[in-house]
Amino acid sequence: MNVSLDRAPIVREVSQLTPGMAASDGAGVQLTRIVGSPMVDMVDPFLLLDAFGSDKPGDYIAGFPDHPHRGFETVTYILAGRMRHKDNAGHEGVIGPGDVQWMTAGRGIVHSEMPEQEDGLLMGFQLWVNLPAADKMTAPRYQEFPASQIAVEDLEGGRVKVIAGKTDAGTEGPVTDISTDPLYFDVNLISGARFSQSVPDQHGGFIYVFEGSVNVGADSTEVPAGTLAVLGEGSRVDVAASETGGRFLLISGNRLNEPVARGGPFVMNTRAEVLQAFQDYQAGRF
Ligand code: FE
Repeated sequence: MNVSLDRAPIVREVSQLTPGMAASDGAGVQLTRIVGSPMVDMVDPFLLLDAFGSDKPGDYIAGFPDHPHRGFETVTYILAGRMRHKDNAGHEGVIGPGDVQWMTAGRGIVHSEMPEQEDGLLMGFQLWVNLPAADKMTAPRYQEFPASQIAVEDLEGGRVKVIAGKTDAGTEGPVTDISTDPLYFDVNLISGARFSQSVPDQHGGFIYVFEGSVNVGADSTEVPAGTLAVLGEGSRVDVAASETGGRFLLISGNRLNEPVARGGPFVMNTRAEVLQAFQDYQAGRF
């Protein structure tokens, strides 16, 4: 066998294709659970992906009143509307269209996430990124960037917004120093346009299409809007837009390969650590 062939990047194929599931969270926010559902429990290192998108205030107005987090990171990316965030350490801010907030909850924060609007469209995503055991009790940290600070790279027939990680052409996202060394791209392609990106072998990852439709991998698996495509093994991802064009998130990160113990807003490695988190929260130690 030819040695150079052995070294050729292996194109990642779709290993699982699934629609999201309607869910309700917070004080009654209607959303679509894409990762963290019965169909896809997690895509290591990602614990959850929710999409929210509604112009009916009843679907979002109740928001997410005060609640704790420990052991992972929450990433909020807003496409339309505005959300106000406020925590128990005095951090407060509003994020609007195209803005992103990457919050490393670490050892613990208590915060609220509430719509900063009474009507109109609210749309966006929240991703939960796991932290390795060694970083679960790290100090809380925020990286918050307005749309104007998100890197944008023009493609032939499209563009990619880079929130975290680096494209093959060298465009680097503003979010840095994340334990799992993730890629978080928002890619928009016109009819027939292509996007190709190296994704390290050790990354777990997925594509979530939210407009139009794309074809993924050498097998050209069709992934329509509202569908999650979990990526199989390989070192790069190839995407071609369908005739309608397509817009999707490409998200990947270093797999942790650690035990995961979930307890609502706490994600630790063991059951005992989750119980400890509940005790610490109830005792006001967050
Ligand atoms: Fe939260």
